[in-house]
Amino acid sequence: MCVTPPSDDTTTSDGRSEGRTASEPPTSDEGEDAVEPAAAFAALSDPLRVDILRELSTYRREGGEEPIGFADLRRRVEVRDSGRFRYHLNELRDHFVEKAGDGYRLTHAGTAVVAAVLAGTLTDASTSGRAELDSVCRSCGEPAVATCQEGVCAVSCPNDHRLFQWTVPPNATADATVPEVVERAELLATQAIERALTGICPTCYDPIESEIRVGRESDAEAPPESEHAGSDPRLRAVCDTCGGRVLGPVGFCLLVDPEVAAFYRRHGRRLRDYHVWEHSFVEDDAVSVVETDPVRVSVDVTLDDDRMRVTVDGTGSVVGTDSPSGS
Ligand SMILES: [Zn+2]
Ligand SMILES: [Zn+2]
Repeated sequence: MCVTPPSDDTTTSDGRSEGRTASEPPTSDEGEDAVEPAAAFAALSDPLRVDILRELSTYRREGGEEPIGFADLRRRVEVRDSGRFRYHLNELRDHFVEKAGDGYRLTHAGTAVVAAVLAGTLTDASTSGRAELDSVCRSCGEPAVATCQEGVCAVSCPNDHRLFQWTVPPNATADATVPEVVERAELLATQAIERALTGICPTCYDPIESEIRVGRESDAEAPPESEHAGSDPRLRAVCDTCGGRVLGPVGFCLLVDPEVAAFYRRHGRRLRDYHVWEHSFVEDDAVSVVETDPVRVSVDVTLDDDRMRVTVDGTGSVVGTDSPSGS
């Protein structure tokens, strides 16, 4: 039987923007494209600047009318020295804070920094541990075991079949049991697949190209222990900007397809009733390569002896379905 290769993700949302072309401005603020990484990090070098970003974010969360005026903002950050406050606020200007009318507000990049830098640090307890799940490995029938450690949630079986892997930010795992973390990781991974297939990097939102790799060139991405390394078509999307990756079996593309969801619904199920590695369609033998140029792959979806055949193109998009046995 076959390995169900893991999804993997490096989620390096470190805001690296080197190598971006001018044609892909993800923000509304002119000039942010040109931020040198070192300059961006330097802009955050003083704790007061982080306080300013945090306060702008709090103000927005509280529903304050934006932009917020200089004096109000200074009061909220509790800095008496107006000159000092202005200096640090200016250091954030253009990259993370923009002036609008008489006041200031976070840019898109500023919002992202608040999310990336502050979210994980405000919670103290992220979950780590190991638990046997109420699920079995399709390859060998052994129980699936989840391990959560340092923000990575990985599911495998005692025979080292890697079933699933995704990173989960600490604030998403706080106070959760290991099985709950797995559920969240699956949700995040599924959303990431949807974004990647739509051409948006799930981590940094820059454009990303998804592809179905057929043949030996997928060797490099296949886990070395995979029995089928290099032979199976796989979903692959790697972001040039941040290095974020979505890798997995072709069947993962079906997790976000409405017709597959409808097929499940006709059988009284939802896709999310199952762990992502439990679906018949993520198995290698549900997949067959129809054409290699351009790539066309067909994937069988089976439920209660009913079968639907789904055709996926070279970008991982579902381009057709048919149900030989009806429904
Ligand atoms: Zn196994
Ligand atoms: Zn990216």
